[in-house]
Amino acid sequence: LEHLKATDPELAALMDAELGRQRTSIELIASENFCSPAVMEAVGSVLTNKYAEGYPGRRYYGGCEQVDRVENLARSRACELFGCRFANVQPHSGANANMAAYTALIKPGDTVLGMSLDQGGHLTHGSPVNFSGSLYRFIPYGLNLETETIDYDELERLAHAERPALIVGGASAYPRTIDFERMAAIAKSVGARLMIDMAHIAGLVATGAHPSPVPYADVVTSTSHKTLRGPRGGFILTNDEELARAIDKAVFPGTQGGPLMHVVAGKAVAFGEALRPEFAVYIDRVVANCAAMGEGLTEGGLRLVSGGTDNHLCLVDLTPADVTGKDAERVLERAGLTVNKNAIPGEPRSPFVTSGIRVGSAAATTRGFTEAEFHEIGALIARTVFHAQDDEVVRAVRARVDELLAAHALYPGL
Ligand code: PLP
Repeated sequence: LEHLKATDPELAALMDAELGRQRTSIELIASENFCSPAVMEAVGSVLTNKYAEGYPGRRYYGGCEQVDRVENLARSRACELFGCRFANVQPHSGANANMAAYTALIKPGDTVLGMSLDQGGHLTHGSPVNFSGSLYRFIPYGLNLETETIDYDELERLAHAERPALIVGGASAYPRTIDFERMAAIAKSVGARLMIDMAHIAGLVATGAHPSPVPYADVVTSTSHKTLRGPRGGFILTNDEELARAIDKAVFPGTQGGPLMHVVAGKAVAFGEALRPEFAVYIDRVVANCAAMGEGLTEGGLRLVSGGTDNHLCLVDLTPADVTGKDAERVLERAGLTVNKNAIPGEPRSPFVTSGIRVGSAAATTRGFTEAEFHEIGALIARTVFHAQDDEVVRAVRARVDELLAAHALYPGL
């Protein structure tokens, strides 16, 4: 931060402090990761200076020869990685990707089925406080409260009753494999289109650790910064040429202005990294580590929603420890374990309080934590929340967390 320290020491100090925070806690937020220094170089580059409204070969600005190549590289790597024909890599975020995909697929007022926010869906899947819920007529579907897995029978019943134009699948807090084939069959049976938002599991889809939605969905949206380990951003995939044209128009000029070419470059780097064999090894570890953490949590006396995990996250019911998600998040932070509170199926408390937490393995796996360590992390979480009022226990957990952290340097040399 040589230049920043000289010209803006106040901001440089804040960035240093954030690096310190990332280094001194075990990051378990399921939607976060640590992208590579190569990705960060692309995002912190001169490409931020370039306006490039339009698409490669069809820009509204001169001087786009190099950024055209950058965007083409990102698009072709995304297509190779996910086995699809068309990719739009310009969405600034996952929410922007979803907005553009809806714009391409449906009209305001159309009926859409989306997974309810309090059962694992995302805000942009029809929450009334989001543009999706105010522009379209979203009907929520959710979980079977006995198995705590997606209730496909109920989804089918709703689809026949509501005759939606679109079904949206994908989730922010769902620990199990999603049956895209079944969702596609339901959509087809009522003449609806299917959009899958694979933001959380994109890294797993890339390596085959989760079945791909690409063969089943009309459109797939995603973020690039979760399990995929790229820069913060979004992208959209399809195999349908006509839809690809509609998506391009919906992104620009429909819902965005100039693309963030430095971030598009970061996505190209991340897609390239994910195409390498090491990334499949990484994702296998993410899944194995999450299972080990789940065992540690269960052995420690907590309950996993749906009884386990197939992916990178566990949803933890804190009821056995008689502590709220809000209080657990706070005491775990003191112990050096960063998590977020999360509603559980049938949640009796408000979304600001909740009865659960969501924990994920993507970031700490990048940092090098092993299966045995993840098992211990699960046990440490359980110990902390069962003794949330006991400062001695919290201090002891913090000391053990510090030992674990010391064995796994984050961004050495930065
Ligand atoms: N879709 C899903 C399933 C998500 O979990 C998220 C983010 O958590 C998003 C979309 C939105 O991504 P962003 O925060 O980049 O807008």
